[in-house]
Amino acid sequence: MTKLTFCGAAGTVTGSCSLLDTGKFRFLIDCGLFQGSKTTQELNYQPFPFDPQSIDFLILTHAHIDHSGLLPKLVKQGFTGTIFATEATCDLLKFMLADSAYIQESGVKRHNKNLRRRGLPSVEPIYTIPDADATLKLLEQQPYEQWFTPHQGVRARLWNAGHLLGSASVELKLQMPGDEQELSLLFSGDIGPEEKVFHPEPDAPEGFDYIVCESTYGNRDREDYTLEKRREAMRDELTRGLKRGGNVVIPSFAVERSQELLHDIGYLLAHNEIPDCDVYLDSPMARRATEVFIKHASELEDIEVDEAKLFRHERFHLVQSLDESKAINNIKSGAVIISASGMCNAGRIKHHLKNNIYRPECTVLFVGYQSPGTLGHIITSGAEQVRIHGAEYKVRAQIRRLGNYSAHADQPELLKWIEERRPITGALFLNHGENDARATLRDLLQERGLDSERIFMPQFDETFDLHPGTKPMSQGAPEPRLNLAHTAHDWHNDYAEFMLALTTTLESSGEQEKYELLNRLKVSLKPS
Ligand SMILES: [Zn+2]
Repeated sequence: MTKLTFCGAAGTVTGSCSLLDTGKFRFLIDCGLFQGSKTTQELNYQPFPFDPQSIDFLILTHAHIDHSGLLPKLVKQGFTGTIFATEATCDLLKFMLADSAYIQESGVKRHNKNLRRRGLPSVEPIYTIPDADATLKLLEQQPYEQWFTPHQGVRARLWNAGHLLGSASVELKLQMPGDEQELSLLFSGDIGPEEKVFHPEPDAPEGFDYIVCESTYGNRDREDYTLEKRREAMRDELTRGLKRGGNVVIPSFAVERSQELLHDIGYLLAHNEIPDCDVYLDSPMARRATEVFIKHASELEDIEVDEAKLFRHERFHLVQSLDESKAINNIKSGAVIISASGMCNAGRIKHHLKNNIYRPECTVLFVGYQSPGTLGHIITSGAEQVRIHGAEYKVRAQIRRLGNYSAHADQPELLKWIEERRPITGALFLNHGENDARATLRDLLQERGLDSERIFMPQFDETFDLHPGTKPMSQGAPEPRLNLAHTAHDWHNDYAEFMLALTTTLESSGEQEKYELLNRLKVSLKPS
Protein backbone atom coordinates (compact mmCIF):
# COMPACT_ATOMS: atom_id res chain seq x y z
CA MET A 1 0.00 0.00 0.00
CA THR A 2 1.28 3.46 -0.89
CA LYS A 3 1.61 6.09 1.81
CA LEU A 4 1.92 9.83 1.34
CA THR A 5 3.51 12.03 4.03
CA PHE A 6 3.56 15.83 4.00
CA CYS A 7 7.04 16.64 5.39
CA GLY A 8 6.77 20.40 4.77
CA ALA A 9 4.57 23.16 3.32
CA ALA A 10 1.57 21.91 5.32
CA GLY A 11 -0.15 25.00 6.71
CA THR A 12 2.87 27.04 5.55
CA VAL A 13 4.30 28.06 2.19
CA THR A 14 7.90 26.89 2.57
CA GLY A 15 9.83 23.63 3.06
CA SER A 16 7.91 21.78 0.32
CA CYS A 17 8.60 18.05 0.61
CA SER A 18 6.25 15.11 0.07
CA LEU A 19 7.27 11.51 0.71
CA LEU A 20 5.72 8.63 -1.20
CA ASP A 21 6.35 5.19 0.22
CA THR A 22 5.12 2.28 -1.89
CA GLY A 23 6.25 -0.35 0.58
CA LYS A 24 8.91 -1.45 -1.93
CA PHE A 25 10.64 1.87 -2.54
CA ARG A 26 10.35 5.49 -1.46
CA PHE A 27 10.73 8.78 -3.22
CA LEU A 28 10.27 12.50 -2.68
CA ILE A 29 8.58 15.29 -4.56
CA ASP A 30 10.71 18.39 -3.74
CA CYS A 31 12.98 19.01 -0.78
CA GLY A 32 12.68 22.69 0.07
CA LEU A 33 14.26 25.02 2.57
CA PHE A 34 12.12 26.44 5.38
CA GLN A 35 12.01 30.22 5.14
CA GLY A 36 10.36 32.92 7.23
CA SER A 37 10.83 33.60 10.94
CA LYS A 38 13.96 32.38 12.73
CA THR A 39 11.78 29.78 14.46
CA THR A 40 10.77 28.37 11.06
CA GLN A 41 14.36 28.45 9.81
CA GLU A 42 15.51 26.36 12.79
CA LEU A 43 13.67 23.42 11.18
CA ASN A 44 16.40 23.35 8.53
CA TYR A 45 18.89 22.27 11.21
CA GLN A 46 16.69 19.44 12.53
CA PRO A 47 16.88 15.88 11.16
CA PHE A 48 14.60 14.92 8.26
CA PRO A 49 11.52 12.94 9.38
CA PHE A 50 12.84 10.06 7.19
CA ASP A 51 16.21 8.42 6.54
CA PRO A 52 17.77 10.20 3.49
CA GLN A 53 19.66 6.99 2.61
CA SER A 54 16.35 5.14 2.23
CA ILE A 55 15.07 7.49 -0.53
CA ASP A 56 15.42 5.94 -4.00
CA PHE A 57 14.87 9.03 -6.18
CA LEU A 58 13.38 12.51 -6.22
CA ILE A 59 11.32 14.56 -8.67
CA LEU A 60 11.74 18.31 -8.42
CA THR A 61 8.91 20.64 -9.50
CA HIS A 62 11.00 23.82 -9.82
CA ALA A 63 14.17 25.60 -8.78
CA HIS A 64 12.80 27.97 -6.10
CA ILE A 65 14.73 27.43 -2.89
CA ASP A 66 11.61 26.66 -0.83
CA HIS A 67 11.26 23.58 -3.10
CA SER A 68 14.93 22.72 -3.78
CA GLY A 69 16.97 24.29 -0.97
CA LEU A 70 17.41 21.21 1.23
CA LEU A 71 18.60 18.95 -1.62
CA PRO A 72 22.28 19.44 -0.65
CA LYS A 73 21.41 18.52 2.95
CA LEU A 74 19.70 15.36 1.67
CA VAL A 75 22.83 14.49 -0.34
CA LYS A 76 25.14 15.35 2.58
CA GLN A 77 23.16 12.89 4.69
CA GLY A 78 23.47 9.98 2.29
CA PHE A 79 20.94 10.35 -0.55
CA THR A 80 22.51 9.00 -3.77
CA GLY A 81 19.46 8.59 -6.05
CA THR A 82 18.63 10.50 -9.23
CA ILE A 83 16.96 13.94 -9.09
CA PHE A 84 14.61 14.36 -12.07
CA ALA A 85 13.77 17.88 -13.29
CA THR A 86 13.30 19.90 -16.47
CA GLU A 87 16.37 21.22 -18.31
CA ALA A 88 15.70 24.84 -17.30
CA THR A 89 15.30 23.82 -13.65
CA CYS A 90 18.69 22.03 -13.82
CA ASP A 91 20.26 25.16 -15.38
CA LEU A 92 18.88 27.41 -12.65
CA LEU A 93 19.96 25.04 -9.88
CA LYS A 94 23.57 25.27 -11.07
CA PHE A 95 23.94 28.66 -9.41
CA MET A 96 20.95 28.75 -7.05
CA LEU A 97 22.15 25.84 -4.88
CA ALA A 98 25.71 27.18 -4.74
CA ASP A 99 24.32 30.59 -3.76
CA SER A 100 22.15 28.99 -1.07
CA ALA A 101 25.22 27.11 0.25
CA TYR A 102 27.21 30.34 0.28
CA ILE A 103 24.44 32.05 2.29
CA GLN A 104 24.40 29.12 4.76
CA GLU A 105 28.18 29.16 5.15
CA SER A 106 28.56 32.92 5.57
CA GLY A 107 25.53 33.14 7.87
CA VAL A 108 26.95 30.44 10.14
CA LYS A 109 30.40 32.08 10.11
CA ARG A 110 28.86 35.32 11.41
CA HIS A 111 26.71 33.45 13.90
CA ASN A 112 29.71 31.45 15.21
CA LYS A 113 31.70 34.64 15.77
CA ASN A 114 28.82 35.81 17.92
CA LEU A 115 28.59 32.49 19.77
CA ARG A 116 32.34 32.44 20.46
CA ARG A 117 32.18 35.94 21.95
CA ARG A 118 29.48 34.69 24.32
CA GLY A 119 31.49 31.54 25.18
CA LEU A 120 28.99 29.22 23.45
CA PRO A 121 29.85 26.24 21.21
CA SER A 122 29.88 26.91 17.46
CA VAL A 123 27.41 25.40 14.95
CA GLU A 124 27.87 23.73 11.54
CA PRO A 125 26.30 25.11 8.33
CA ILE A 126 23.34 23.04 7.07
CA TYR A 127 25.44 22.32 3.99
CA THR A 128 28.37 23.72 2.09
CA ILE A 129 29.28 24.49 -1.54
CA PRO A 130 30.83 20.98 -2.08
CA ASP A 131 27.46 19.48 -0.98
CA ALA A 132 25.68 21.70 -3.54
CA ASP A 133 28.17 20.57 -6.23
CA ALA A 134 27.59 16.89 -5.33
CA THR A 135 23.82 17.48 -5.67
CA LEU A 136 24.18 18.80 -9.22
CA LYS A 137 25.82 15.50 -10.25
CA LEU A 138 22.59 13.64 -9.40
CA LEU A 139 20.39 15.73 -11.73
CA GLU A 140 18.76 14.14 -14.76
CA GLN A 141 16.88 16.32 -17.26
CA GLN A 142 13.42 15.35 -18.45
CA PRO A 143 11.35 17.13 -21.13
CA TYR A 144 7.76 18.26 -20.58
CA GLU A 145 4.87 15.96 -21.49
CA GLN A 146 6.91 12.78 -22.02
CA TRP A 147 6.62 9.69 -19.84
CA PHE A 148 9.75 8.50 -18.09
CA THR A 149 10.36 5.65 -15.66
CA PRO A 150 12.24 6.84 -12.58
CA HIS A 151 11.91 3.39 -10.98
CA GLN A 152 10.30 0.08 -11.79
CA GLY A 153 6.60 0.46 -10.98
CA VAL A 154 6.45 4.25 -11.52
CA ARG A 155 5.82 6.30 -14.63
CA ALA A 156 6.09 10.06 -14.43
CA ARG A 157 5.39 13.01 -16.69
CA LEU A 158 6.07 16.73 -16.22
CA TRP A 159 3.62 19.47 -17.22
CA ASN A 160 4.18 23.19 -17.60
CA ALA A 161 3.11 24.90 -14.36
CA GLY A 162 3.60 28.47 -15.70
CA HIS A 163 5.18 29.69 -12.46
CA LEU A 164 8.91 29.97 -13.11
CA LEU A 165 11.26 29.06 -15.96
CA GLY A 166 11.30 25.23 -15.96
CA SER A 167 8.47 24.87 -13.42
CA ALA A 168 6.44 21.68 -13.62
CA SER A 169 3.49 19.80 -12.21
CA VAL A 170 4.25 16.10 -11.72
CA GLU A 171 1.92 13.37 -12.95
CA LEU A 172 2.53 9.89 -11.53
CA LYS A 173 1.22 6.40 -12.27
CA LEU A 174 2.16 3.77 -9.70
CA GLN A 175 1.66 0.06 -10.24
CA MET A 176 3.60 -2.57 -8.34
CA PRO A 177 3.77 -6.19 -9.53
CA GLY A 178 0.60 -7.86 -8.27
CA ASP A 179 -1.39 -4.59 -8.01
CA GLU A 180 -4.76 -4.84 -9.70
CA GLN A 181 -5.17 -1.15 -10.30
CA GLU A 182 -2.86 1.69 -11.15
CA LEU A 183 -2.71 4.60 -8.71
CA SER A 184 -2.71 8.01 -10.41
CA LEU A 185 -1.50 11.18 -8.73
CA LEU A 186 -0.80 14.78 -9.67
CA PHE A 187 1.38 17.19 -7.70
CA SER A 188 0.71 20.75 -8.85
CA GLY A 189 4.01 22.23 -7.64
CA ASP A 190 3.59 26.02 -7.63
CA ILE A 191 1.10 27.18 -10.27
CA GLY A 192 1.53 30.42 -12.17
CA PRO A 193 -1.14 32.98 -13.09
CA GLU A 194 -2.82 32.98 -16.50
CA GLU A 195 -1.45 36.38 -17.48
CA LYS A 196 2.29 36.09 -17.12
CA VAL A 197 5.04 37.02 -19.50
CA PHE A 198 7.38 34.17 -20.63
CA HIS A 199 5.15 31.14 -19.93
CA PRO A 200 1.93 29.70 -21.29
CA GLU A 201 -0.79 29.14 -18.71
CA PRO A 202 -0.43 26.02 -16.55
CA ASP A 203 -1.51 22.73 -18.06
CA ALA A 204 -2.05 19.12 -16.94
CA PRO A 205 -4.36 16.21 -17.78
CA GLU A 206 -7.67 15.42 -16.02
CA GLY A 207 -8.89 12.47 -13.99
CA PHE A 208 -6.81 11.39 -10.97
CA ASP A 209 -7.10 9.33 -7.82
CA TYR A 210 -5.26 11.99 -5.84
CA ILE A 211 -4.23 15.56 -6.49
CA VAL A 212 -1.93 17.59 -4.25
CA CYS A 213 -2.49 21.26 -5.05
CA GLU A 214 -0.80 24.39 -3.79
CA SER A 215 -3.04 27.03 -2.17
CA THR A 216 -0.72 30.00 -1.58
CA TYR A 217 -3.30 32.57 -2.76
CA GLY A 218 -6.38 30.50 -1.94
CA ASN A 219 -7.91 33.55 -0.27
CA ARG A 220 -6.80 36.25 -2.69
CA ASP A 221 -8.73 37.44 -5.72
CA ARG A 222 -6.41 39.78 -7.59
CA GLU A 223 -7.64 42.50 -9.83
CA ASP A 224 -7.58 41.22 -13.41
CA TYR A 225 -4.78 42.67 -15.50
CA THR A 226 -3.22 42.04 -18.85
CA LEU A 227 0.48 42.12 -19.73
CA GLU A 228 -0.14 45.49 -21.41
CA LYS A 229 -1.88 46.96 -18.38
CA ARG A 230 0.97 45.82 -16.19
CA ARG A 231 3.52 47.50 -18.46
CA GLU A 232 1.45 50.68 -18.44
CA ALA A 233 1.47 50.71 -14.65
CA MET A 234 5.26 50.29 -14.72
CA ARG A 235 5.51 53.10 -17.29
CA ASP A 236 3.56 55.45 -15.01
CA GLU A 237 5.61 54.59 -11.93
CA LEU A 238 8.97 54.99 -13.70
CA THR A 239 7.94 58.23 -15.42
CA ARG A 240 6.74 59.74 -12.15
CA GLY A 241 9.79 58.47 -10.27
CA LEU A 242 12.37 59.71 -12.77
CA LYS A 243 10.66 63.12 -13.10
CA ARG A 244 11.06 63.63 -9.35
CA GLY A 245 14.78 64.10 -10.04
CA GLY A 246 16.25 61.18 -8.10
CA ASN A 247 16.78 57.47 -8.71
CA VAL A 248 14.17 54.71 -8.78
CA VAL A 249 15.28 51.73 -6.68
CA ILE A 250 13.44 48.44 -7.29
CA PRO A 251 14.00 45.57 -4.83
CA SER A 252 13.47 42.44 -6.90
CA PHE A 253 13.75 38.66 -6.69
CA ALA A 254 16.81 37.62 -8.69
CA VAL A 255 15.20 34.83 -10.69
CA GLU A 256 12.38 35.57 -13.11
CA ARG A 257 11.06 38.81 -11.53
CA SER A 258 14.26 40.65 -12.50
CA GLN A 259 13.99 39.29 -16.05
CA GLU A 260 10.31 40.29 -16.23
CA LEU A 261 11.34 43.81 -15.21
CA LEU A 262 14.14 43.93 -17.79
CA HIS A 263 11.71 42.74 -20.43
CA ASP A 264 9.09 45.36 -19.59
CA ILE A 265 11.54 48.23 -19.09
CA GLY A 266 13.34 47.23 -22.32
CA TYR A 267 10.02 47.48 -24.14
CA LEU A 268 9.20 50.88 -22.60
CA LEU A 269 12.65 52.26 -23.49
CA ALA A 270 12.49 50.92 -27.06
CA HIS A 271 9.10 52.60 -27.55
CA ASN A 272 10.14 55.87 -25.86
CA GLU A 273 7.38 55.45 -23.32
CA ILE A 274 9.57 56.42 -20.36
CA PRO A 275 12.26 59.09 -19.93
CA ASP A 276 15.68 58.01 -21.17
CA CYS A 277 17.47 56.35 -18.26
CA ASP A 278 20.25 53.94 -17.34
CA VAL A 279 19.03 50.66 -15.88
CA TYR A 280 21.32 48.78 -13.49
CA LEU A 281 20.70 45.16 -12.59
CA ASP A 282 22.89 44.83 -9.53
CA SER A 283 22.71 41.24 -8.32
CA PRO A 284 25.25 38.56 -9.31
CA MET A 285 22.51 35.95 -8.98
CA ALA A 286 20.06 37.92 -11.19
CA ARG A 287 22.83 38.25 -13.77
CA ARG A 288 23.38 34.47 -13.81
CA ALA A 289 19.62 33.91 -14.01
CA THR A 290 19.43 36.31 -16.95
CA GLU A 291 22.02 34.18 -18.78
CA VAL A 292 19.84 31.09 -18.26
CA PHE A 293 16.81 33.00 -19.59
CA ILE A 294 18.81 33.99 -22.67
CA LYS A 295 19.77 30.33 -23.20
CA HIS A 296 16.08 29.39 -23.08
CA ALA A 297 14.82 32.47 -24.98
CA SER A 298 13.28 30.41 -27.78
CA GLU A 299 10.96 28.70 -25.25
CA LEU A 300 9.71 32.00 -23.78
CA GLU A 301 6.29 33.32 -24.73
CA ASP A 302 4.82 36.83 -25.03
CA ILE A 303 8.21 38.38 -25.77
CA GLU A 304 7.55 41.92 -27.03
CA VAL A 305 11.15 42.79 -27.84
CA ASP A 306 13.45 41.46 -30.51
CA GLU A 307 14.80 38.10 -29.20
CA ALA A 308 18.38 39.15 -29.98
CA LYS A 309 17.88 42.26 -27.82
CA LEU A 310 16.07 40.53 -25.00
CA PHE A 311 17.66 41.70 -21.70
CA ARG A 312 20.36 43.42 -23.76
CA HIS A 313 19.20 47.05 -24.31
CA GLU A 314 22.12 49.49 -24.68
CA ARG A 315 21.01 51.33 -21.52
CA PHE A 316 21.08 48.11 -19.46
CA HIS A 317 24.06 47.49 -17.17
CA LEU A 318 24.23 43.96 -15.81
CA VAL A 319 26.56 44.62 -12.91
CA GLN A 320 29.03 41.96 -11.80
CA SER A 321 31.91 43.19 -9.62
CA LEU A 322 31.68 44.88 -6.26
CA ASP A 323 33.53 47.90 -7.65
CA GLU A 324 30.93 48.33 -10.40
CA SER A 325 28.24 48.01 -7.76
CA LYS A 326 29.87 50.64 -5.55
CA ALA A 327 30.20 53.01 -8.52
CA ILE A 328 26.36 53.16 -8.66
CA ASN A 329 26.50 54.95 -5.28
CA ASN A 330 27.80 58.03 -7.09
CA ILE A 331 24.73 58.29 -9.31
CA LYS A 332 22.33 60.75 -7.76
CA SER A 333 19.59 60.90 -10.38
CA GLY A 334 18.11 59.40 -13.51
CA ALA A 335 18.93 55.75 -12.80
CA VAL A 336 16.68 52.74 -12.35
CA ILE A 337 18.43 50.36 -9.95
CA ILE A 338 17.10 46.80 -9.76
CA SER A 339 18.71 44.76 -7.01
CA ALA A 340 18.10 41.72 -4.80
CA SER A 341 16.94 40.50 -2.42
CA GLY A 342 13.34 41.24 -3.23
CA MET A 343 12.37 41.66 0.43
CA CYS A 344 15.48 43.72 1.27
CA ASN A 345 16.65 41.34 4.01
CA ALA A 346 20.03 40.64 2.38
CA GLY A 347 22.18 41.42 -0.64
CA ARG A 348 23.22 44.55 -2.49
CA ILE A 349 19.76 46.16 -2.34
CA LYS A 350 20.59 47.26 1.22
CA HIS A 351 23.42 49.47 -0.07
CA HIS A 352 21.12 51.07 -2.63
CA LEU A 353 18.48 51.72 0.02
CA LYS A 354 21.11 53.34 2.25
CA ASN A 355 22.03 55.70 -0.59
CA ASN A 356 18.53 56.61 -1.70
CA ILE A 357 15.90 56.05 0.96
CA TYR A 358 16.60 59.27 2.91
CA ARG A 359 16.43 61.46 -0.22
CA PRO A 360 12.95 62.90 -0.96
CA GLU A 361 13.61 63.06 -4.71
CA CYS A 362 14.12 59.27 -4.89
CA THR A 363 11.57 56.46 -5.23
CA VAL A 364 11.64 52.91 -3.87
CA LEU A 365 9.30 50.78 -5.96
CA PHE A 366 8.25 47.39 -4.57
CA VAL A 367 7.11 44.80 -7.11
CA GLY A 368 6.81 41.67 -4.97
CA TYR A 369 5.35 40.15 -1.86
CA GLN A 370 6.94 41.38 1.40
CA SER A 371 6.97 38.81 4.17
CA PRO A 372 6.28 40.13 7.71
CA GLY A 373 9.47 40.80 9.63
CA THR A 374 11.57 41.65 6.56
CA LEU A 375 13.01 45.12 5.94
CA GLY A 376 10.79 45.36 2.83
CA HIS A 377 7.72 44.76 4.96
CA ILE A 378 8.81 47.37 7.50
CA ILE A 379 9.31 49.96 4.75
CA THR A 380 6.03 49.19 2.97
CA SER A 381 4.19 49.31 6.31
CA GLY A 382 5.01 53.03 6.49
CA ALA A 383 8.00 53.15 8.86
CA GLU A 384 9.39 56.68 9.16
CA GLN A 385 12.84 55.41 10.02
CA VAL A 386 14.60 52.12 9.31
CA ARG A 387 17.76 50.41 10.47
CA ILE A 388 20.13 49.17 7.76
CA HIS A 389 23.52 47.61 8.58
CA GLY A 390 23.30 48.96 12.12
CA ALA A 391 22.58 52.59 11.23
CA GLU A 392 19.31 54.55 11.23
CA TYR A 393 17.91 56.08 8.05
CA LYS A 394 14.93 58.43 7.70
CA VAL A 395 12.45 57.25 5.07
CA ARG A 396 11.96 60.33 2.90
CA ALA A 397 11.89 58.71 -0.55
CA GLN A 398 8.53 57.98 -2.17
CA ILE A 399 7.55 54.41 -1.29
CA ARG A 400 5.49 52.87 -4.07
CA ARG A 401 4.07 49.42 -4.72
CA LEU A 402 3.02 47.60 -7.88
CA GLY A 403 0.98 44.57 -6.91
CA ASN A 404 0.45 43.13 -10.36
CA TYR A 405 3.66 41.18 -10.84
CA SER A 406 3.00 37.73 -9.46
CA ALA A 407 4.30 34.21 -10.02
CA HIS A 408 1.31 32.55 -8.34
CA ALA A 409 -2.20 31.78 -9.49
CA ASP A 410 -4.80 33.66 -7.44
CA GLN A 411 -8.00 32.17 -6.04
CA PRO A 412 -10.11 32.07 -9.25
CA GLU A 413 -7.11 30.68 -11.16
CA LEU A 414 -6.49 27.94 -8.56
CA LEU A 415 -10.20 27.02 -8.64
CA LYS A 416 -10.10 26.86 -12.42
CA TRP A 417 -6.95 24.70 -12.44
CA ILE A 418 -8.51 22.25 -9.96
CA GLU A 419 -11.85 22.11 -11.80
CA GLU A 420 -10.08 21.37 -15.06
CA ARG A 421 -8.35 18.37 -13.43
CA ARG A 422 -11.61 16.64 -12.39
CA PRO A 423 -12.77 13.97 -11.81
CA ILE A 424 -10.79 13.39 -8.63
CA THR A 425 -11.92 9.98 -7.40
CA GLY A 426 -9.81 9.69 -4.23
CA ALA A 427 -9.05 13.06 -2.69
CA LEU A 428 -7.70 16.54 -3.15
CA PHE A 429 -4.98 17.59 -0.73
CA LEU A 430 -4.44 21.33 -0.29
CA ASN A 431 -0.87 22.08 0.74
CA HIS A 432 1.57 24.99 0.35
CA GLY A 433 -0.75 27.57 1.91
CA GLU A 434 -1.59 29.16 5.25
CA ASN A 435 -4.58 27.56 6.95
CA ASP A 436 -6.89 30.52 6.12
CA ALA A 437 -6.06 30.26 2.43
CA ARG A 438 -6.59 26.49 2.40
CA ALA A 439 -9.90 26.68 4.25
CA THR A 440 -11.25 29.40 1.95
CA LEU A 441 -10.33 27.38 -1.11
CA ARG A 442 -11.88 24.23 0.37
CA ASP A 443 -15.18 26.03 1.06
CA LEU A 444 -15.34 27.44 -2.47
CA LEU A 445 -14.59 24.03 -3.99
CA GLN A 446 -17.39 22.55 -1.91
CA GLU A 447 -19.78 25.21 -3.29
CA ARG A 448 -18.71 24.11 -6.76
CA GLY A 449 -19.70 20.53 -6.13
CA LEU A 450 -16.56 18.86 -4.81
CA ASP A 451 -17.21 16.49 -1.92
CA SER A 452 -15.85 18.31 1.14
CA GLU A 453 -15.04 14.96 2.77
CA ARG A 454 -12.57 14.38 -0.01
CA ILE A 455 -10.74 17.67 0.41
CA PHE A 456 -7.93 17.47 2.96
CA MET A 457 -5.76 20.09 4.62
CA PRO A 458 -2.85 17.87 5.69
CA GLN A 459 -0.99 18.71 8.86
CA PHE A 460 2.76 18.80 9.26
CA ASP A 461 4.19 15.25 8.90
CA GLU A 462 0.69 13.76 8.48
CA THR A 463 0.63 10.43 6.63
CA PHE A 464 -2.22 9.09 4.45
CA ASP A 465 -2.83 5.59 3.07
CA LEU A 466 -3.71 5.79 -0.61
CA HIS A 467 -5.91 3.33 -2.55
CA PRO A 468 -7.01 3.89 -6.15
CA GLY A 469 -10.39 5.65 -6.23
CA THR A 470 -11.01 5.68 -2.50
CA LYS A 471 -10.90 8.21 0.30
CA PRO A 472 -7.46 8.23 1.92
CA MET A 473 -7.04 7.08 5.51
CA SER A 474 -5.06 9.43 7.73
CA GLN A 475 -2.59 7.76 10.04
CA GLY A 476 -2.46 11.03 11.94
CA ALA A 477 0.45 13.35 12.50
CA PRO A 478 3.14 13.16 15.18
CA GLU A 479 3.84 16.11 17.50
CA PRO A 480 4.29 18.99 15.02
CA ARG A 481 7.86 20.15 14.47
CA LEU A 482 6.63 23.72 14.04
CA ASN A 483 4.11 25.93 15.83
CA LEU A 484 2.22 27.48 12.89
CA ALA A 485 1.60 30.65 14.91
CA HIS A 486 5.32 31.43 14.66
CA THR A 487 5.98 30.87 10.98
CA ALA A 488 5.78 34.48 9.86
CA HIS A 489 6.36 36.38 13.09
CA ASP A 490 8.15 35.12 16.19
CA TRP A 491 9.83 36.62 19.28
CA HIS A 492 12.90 37.59 17.23
CA ASN A 493 10.67 39.96 15.21
CA ASP A 494 9.08 41.30 18.41
CA TYR A 495 12.57 41.88 19.81
CA ALA A 496 13.78 43.76 16.69
CA GLU A 497 10.64 45.93 16.67
CA PHE A 498 10.98 46.63 20.38
CA MET A 499 14.65 47.65 20.04
CA LEU A 500 13.82 50.00 17.17
CA ALA A 501 10.92 51.55 19.12
CA LEU A 502 13.14 51.94 22.20
CA THR A 503 15.91 53.72 20.25
CA THR A 504 13.42 56.05 18.56
CA THR A 505 11.66 56.85 21.85
CA LEU A 506 14.92 57.51 23.70
CA GLU A 507 16.12 59.82 20.93
CA SER A 508 12.98 61.93 21.11
CA SER A 509 12.80 62.03 24.93
CA GLY A 510 14.17 64.59 27.35
CA GLU A 511 17.01 63.71 29.76
CA GLN A 512 14.72 62.97 32.74
CA GLU A 513 12.26 60.94 30.60
CA LYS A 514 15.13 58.75 29.34
CA TYR A 515 16.04 57.76 32.95
CA GLU A 516 12.40 57.17 33.88
CA LEU A 517 11.74 54.97 30.85
CA LEU A 518 14.86 52.87 31.39
CA ASN A 519 14.08 52.48 35.10
CA ARG A 520 10.55 51.28 34.29
CA LEU A 521 12.01 48.70 31.89
CA LYS A 522 14.63 47.57 34.42
CA VAL A 523 11.90 47.00 37.03
CA SER A 524 9.90 44.90 34.58
CA LEU A 525 12.94 42.65 33.98
CA LYS A 526 13.19 41.72 37.69
CA PRO A 527 11.56 38.38 38.51
CA SER A 528 8.28 39.02 40.33
ZN1 LIG B 1 7.87 28.64 -6.44
